[in-house]
Amino acid sequence: MYFNAKSVSLLLALCVGGITAAFLSIIPDVSIMGVVVGLIISFSSSFLLTYFVLEFIFFKEISNIHRQIHELRQKQSNGFSPELGQKQKNPIVDIKSQINHYAKMKEDEIAQLKQMEQYRKEFLANISHELKTPIFATQGFILTLLDGAVNDKNVRDRFLKKAAKSLNALNILVEDLLTVSKIEAGEINMEFEEFDVQVMLVDVLEQVEQKAEKKNITVTLEAPSDDPIYINADYNRLKQVVLNLVVNGIKYNNKNGWVKVILEVKEDTVTINVKDNGFGIPEEDQNRIFERFYRVEKSRTKKQGGSGLGLAICKHILERHDTGISVTSTPEEGSNFSFDLKLVNDTENEDTEL
Ligand code: ADP
Repeated sequence: MYFNAKSVSLLLALCVGGITAAFLSIIPDVSIMGVVVGLIISFSSSFLLTYFVLEFIFFKEISNIHRQIHELRQKQSNGFSPELGQKQKNPIVDIKSQINHYAKMKEDEIAQLKQMEQYRKEFLANISHELKTPIFATQGFILTLLDGAVNDKNVRDRFLKKAAKSLNALNILVEDLLTVSKIEAGEINMEFEEFDVQVMLVDVLEQVEQKAEKKNITVTLEAPSDDPIYINADYNRLKQVVLNLVVNGIKYNNKNGWVKVILEVKEDTVTINVKDNGFGIPEEDQNRIFERFYRVEKSRTKKQGGSGLGLAICKHILERHDTGISVTSTPEEGSNFSFDLKLVNDTENEDTEL
């Protein structure tokens, strides 16, 4: 129902007039004329009075609030509901729906802030835990040496090597942490360039050769042909992604296993698959492994010495390339990590060269 000052005053005036007339009609001395005059006077006076009060005090204020909300809505057009983008006829209904919508928006914002606060707490707890492990280990080796083990040449060398290994792990962790926080803060700019993705993959394979040899794992590249496959990406960052996936394929694998980097060229994308026949990942962990510090089976994977940040970094880098990473895996059979990248359109290049 559409309420405004006039309609509300009319309704009220009719009620007051009706009641007055009814009241006058039951008094024996009052003539019909008197009842009619009473009705007209009470109707018109209550109409004027109510109309004045509503129009100049109540509705004027409501109109002001409505105008302000409308202006605010235009300023923050993305915050308010699009269906309420037009100023509605009835200001009360409009204000009510806008306030409801605004309250919902704020509720969502508060829920999001609470969730972020929770993430922050968990992140801090995780960092402290991860930092503690290599620091305590190094401290333990050094204290043992100071307690006298330093005099035994064999023990000294063994403990110093172990301390160096722990410090190395600490260094990797701090570097990965810095990378994650810089990417999340948007401080790392991607340097896009056009290159043949196969060149980058060969580069990765050469880099992991020694690591693979130690476990007698074969790492191969399978591409549809030797023809170059051009993409527009940040060479070093993308190399970091594939390197991390291939290294994981080696780390979480049995001796004599394999890791395959398989390229699939489609109409305007190329899919990069990094497949292994290693430990595999249980289904319930598959969408959590991209979270910071998430490890599948703590004892088994922690022995491999990763920071637990590798896949989180991969996900961020690929997001900056407008793509996402997916995983399919079967425990004890192996895993396949894959992502798509847009191919550089040759005809576009030719056009710009001309
Ligand atoms: P990490 O530094 O521990 O390797 P990642 O972020 O790279 O951290 O990986 C997160 C977890 O996902 C690993 O700890 C491991 O449990 C699991 N994972 C990653 N890749 C593989 C794989 N190819 N096979 C089995 N498990 C994997």
